[in-house]
Parts: sequence; structure tokens; C-alpha cells
Amino acid sequence: MDKKRVSLPIALTVAGTDSGGGAGVQADLKTFAALGVHGCAAITCLTAQSPKGVRAILSSPAEFLRQQLLAVFSDLPPVAVKTGMLYNAELIHVLVNFLKEHTVKLVVDPVMISTSGSELLQSDAVQTMCEELFPLADLVTPNLDESARLLGRTIENQKELQLAARELYEKFGRPVLAKGGHLRDTEEAVDVLWDGEQEYTFSKPFITDVSTHGTGCTFSSAITAALALGYSLPEAVEAGKNYVSRSIESSVKIAEHYALNWFNDQ
Ligand code: PLP
Repeated sequence: MDKKRVSLPIALTVAGTDSGGGAGVQADLKTFAALGVHGCAAITCLTAQSPKGVRAILSSPAEFLRQQLLAVFSDLPPVAVKTGMLYNAELIHVLVNFLKEHTVKLVVDPVMISTSGSELLQSDAVQTMCEELFPLADLVTPNLDESARLLGRTIENQKELQLAARELYEKFGRPVLAKGGHLRDTEEAVDVLWDGEQEYTFSKPFITDVSTHGTGCTFSSAITAALALGYSLPEAVEAGKNYVSRSIESSVKIAEHYALNWFNDQ
């Protein structure tokens, strides 16, 4: 036994890459590293992308995703897993079959469309994600547009966001963090967690002087890292909210764009 070495818990992201480094797998791994967990990655697709938008997407063959999952779970068993861009139904099937055989904490970020307007989940795969993947999740983290799409109506204010979290829980039977960062009627960026018994509200001041990309990925990865470190669900969401808020607040300039800052001062 090597007593001098620190042992880190392992977290896995199952997601797509972002060649610009701001979102997707790159954001997830930076977040895991910043929060003190070892990050593994099973890549669903490559995207050719910059903060301005997505130019092209190349999907991993489903069997290759399965091989990546096999490699990770065989030798580096993760405590917690997050999913990001899953792209198509075939990839979701492979992941679901795999997760059914393993016990992990699972955070599902139901990524569908990028802020720049690109489709990151094919429309026929939305149902597969809802019916097959959501039932395995410890937490589903839709943003405002995703909640609206999943419920089939718009969400205009904080009261409707609270209702959305409960309705999504009723629909899918799993805890939901309904993110309200894009609401316009609130004084702060508000997110609502409904775990089937209790409502938790997380609120941080809006930071309006930067254009952010990859905040959803960073938020769900930070929650996943905290779960891997043994936090309870509400504690993990609080830690994730603090982390993403500080990352936006301390964003840095890269060429003509901004990037979230990755740090750990907790
Ligand atoms: N690219 C990839 C690979 C992603 O996973 C995501 C979000 O999950 C995005 C882009 C979109 O990021 P944003 O909407 O913050 O621009």
C-alpha cells in the first residue's frame, strides 16, 4: 500500500467534446479537476465548435461508446456519472444498458439545443432519453428551455419554475433541478430543486457583463463532483451553484470571447 499518495474519487462524464474548450467534455473535466475528483470521459460525439457556434458534429459509433464505458467501469469504477450531449437514440441505448448493470450516482443534464441554436440531441432521441435514461437518474437538471420542451409549455416566472420542478418530478419520478438562470422576472439567478418531498431554492446574483458558454455543463459537473465526494443531493446542488456562480463571476477573456474560470477555493 502506498500510504503517502492521496486517493481521489472517480467521476465519469458521458458527453460530447467542444473544440473551443468552453463546454462539453472539456468543461466537465476541468470542473472535476478543480473540485478534487479524478475525471474519466466516455465521448458520445465530437463537435467542431467555438464560442460563436457549432460547425459540425461527428458521432461516436455506438459500439465504440460501449468500449469506452467498459474500459472505465472495468478498471476505474466511478462513484458518480454525469451525462451531457448524448446526440442520438442509439448512444442512449448503449449507455442505459450499461448503467442498468452498475450502481452509481447519476446526474442527467438533458442537453438538447446549444445557446447558439444547434441541435445537440436529435429530436427522435428526446423520448428515448425521457423514457429510458431519466428513470435511472438521481437528478435531472433542465434549463428553462429544456423544462419548457419537456412540459410542452413556456415558463415565465419563479412561481412557474417551482411548479415546473414538481410537474417534471411527477412526470418522471426522479428529483429535478429546474434551472431559472434565463428567467427575466427574477432579481437573482434562481434554481429550484424538488426531490419529491421538499423544495430547495438556490439563488445567486446575476452576472451580466460577460457572455457565458458552458455554464450548464459546468454546473452539472460540479454537482456530480460533489456527489462523488459524498455530499447529499441538496448539499451537492448548493456546492455546484456556488461553483458555477464563482466561475462566471471570475470569467476570463480569451481572444474576443470569455471563458469560465476554473478554481477551487472551497
Ligand atoms: N457543446 C457541447 C458539446 C455541449 O455539451 C453543450 C452543452 O451541454 C454545448 C455545446 C452548449 O453549451 P452552451 O449552450 O452553454 O453554449
